[in-house]
Amino acid sequence: MASALSEKLSRIVKEMRGQARITEANVADMMREVRLALLEADVALPVVRDFVARVKEKALGQEVVGSLTPGQVLVSVVNRELAATMGQGVADINLAAQPPAVILMAGLQGAGKTTTTAKLAKHLIEKRKKKVLTVSGDVYRPAAIEQLKTVTKQAGAEWFPSTPDQKPVDIAHAALDYARKRHFDVLLVDTAGRLAIDEALMLEIKQLHATLNPVETLFVVDAMQGQDAINTAKAFKEALPLTGIILTKMDGDSRGGAALSVRAITGAPIKFAGVSEKIDGLEVFDAERHAGRILG
Ligand code: GDP
Repeated sequence: MASALSEKLSRIVKEMRGQARITEANVADMMREVRLALLEADVALPVVRDFVARVKEKALGQEVVGSLTPGQVLVSVVNRELAATMGQGVADINLAAQPPAVILMAGLQGAGKTTTTAKLAKHLIEKRKKKVLTVSGDVYRPAAIEQLKTVTKQAGAEWFPSTPDQKPVDIAHAALDYARKRHFDVLLVDTAGRLAIDEALMLEIKQLHATLNPVETLFVVDAMQGQDAINTAKAFKEALPLTGIILTKMDGDSRGGAALSVRAITGAPIKFAGVSEKIDGLEVFDAERHAGRILG
C-alpha cells in the first residue's frame, strides 16, 4: 500500500531519512499531509480529526528499529490505522439463515436502493447459485414498485407484487410466506426512502426489520454524498442493526472518502460498490485497495 501514498507523503518520508527517532515535528509534518489527503478525498471532518489523533498517539510511542527510517515507521502506522478503520479484505453477503435468507435494503431516496437490489439479485443468482425473490415495500411511489419489477426481470430473479394501498409490514408477511412456500433461498426487500431522514421513515423500517428478522440489513449510500453521508449513516445506524454497507455511484467519485466516513461511523463492513447504472455494475468491495486510493 505504501506505493499508493501521495507524492507529498513520499517526500516527507524521504526527508525523514537518517534520523534515529520519531520526533513530534516528524509526526506533525506527516499528519498535516495525511489530513490534507483525507480532506481532499472528501472524508468527513470529524472522521479525519479522530483518525489523525489516533495515528499521532500511536506514532509518538513507536521506536525506530533495525534498518527502518522514521518516515517508514510513520507510514506503516498510518497504513495500519487506515486498515483498522476501513476493514481488511472482502466481506461477502451472509446467507446463513433458515431459507429464505432475508436481506433488507435501507437508505435515502435516490441512493440507488432499487437498482442495487436488482444488482445484488443478479450477483446472488450468478455467483452464489441462489433462487432469488424481490419485493418492494415502497408504498409511497408506485413508480418505485414498477421500477423494481423491471430491474428484477433484467436480473433474472422473480418479483413479488405489492401495491400502494398495502402496509409495508403486510407486504413483508405476504412475500415471506410466498418465498417459504416456493422454496426461495433469498428474499430481497427494497424499502421506501425519503429525501431526508424523518422519524416516520425510521419507524417504518424498524417495524419491517422486526417483522422480517433479516440476516443482512444493508445500508445503501451514495458515495457522491461526501460530507453529508456521515449524518445519514448516523441516523440509519441508530435505527437499525446494520450488517453491511453498499456504496453506490463510486464511478462518479474519484477518491472515495465517503467509504472511510461511513465505515468509521457505522462500524459495518462495506460489502459492495456500485460502479455504473447497469445491472452488472456492482463490485465486491476490496477495503485494502480502497484504503490505498483514499490516500491517493
Ligand atoms: P432509490 O431511490 O434509492 O431506489 O434509487 P434508484 O435505484 O432509483 O437510483 C437512483 C439513480 O441512481 C438512478 O438513476 C440509478 O440509475 C442511479 N444509480 C444507482 N446506482 C448507481 C451507480 O452505482 N452508479 C451510477 N452511475 N448510477 C447509479
